Amino acid sequence: MKQVTVMSLFVYYTDGQLTKSTPPSNLNMVPADPSNWCNHICKLLIDQKIVTPPRKEGSQGPKQVANPIIAGYTLILPSLPEHYLLYKRKRANGSTDYYLYGHGSGKPFDRPAYFVPHVKYLLGLSGGQCTCKLCA
Ligand SMILES: [Zn+2]
Repeated sequence: MKQVTVMSLFVYYTDGQLTKSTPPSNLNMVPADPSNWCNHICKLLIDQKIVTPPRKEGSQGPKQVANPIIAGYTLILPSLPEHYLLYKRKRANGSTDYYLYGHGSGKPFDRPAYFVPHVKYLLGLSGGQCTCKLCA
């Protein structure tokens, strides 16, 4: 039987702002269940590699190594950071777009992948500088 080590990841530090966590009313969005986003964020975090610089001048390019903090775990993210709220909107063609509000810029994250650098920043895994699209 394969042994699975589960790590529950709770984002204690949040910069989510309640005043920024609702979309403009003219966009016709409704609240969405964030569990799919949480699962997706976990998968992306597990896949994230740390890039280490080459050891010597002229040696091969940066080496990608597994993130030692989350390597070997099955991650569970029980909830999004506080004051981040997910909304959805149906398109005319039937597909659904998702938008995560709460960032101080007032702009939403529209893909889990775009939110991952911000989650890493909130978890203290990015050296104090956020590289997400909305902070950059
Ligand atoms: Zn950010």
